Amino acid sequence: MGDFCDTATDLERLARETAIANAGLKNTNEPSRGTCVECGRVIPEARQKAIPGVTLCVECQAGSEE
Ligand SMILES: [Zn+2]
Repeated sequence: MGDFCDTATDLERLARETAIANAGLKNTNEPSRGTCVECGRVIPEARQKAIPGVTLCVECQAGSEE
């Protein structure tokens, strides 16, 4: 029953990765959205709503304007 074991492991891993991916959408580490391209820190949701498509956090934005 080696095949069954492999399949179960794959499904379990897939479920775990999906859960991690879903959590990432809500919290952190979404690489192309929601994080500062300069420092990689999470950009607060309020800031993202205020400035759609914003790619810099407050600190980096302030630094780039000075
Ligand atoms: Zn930044």
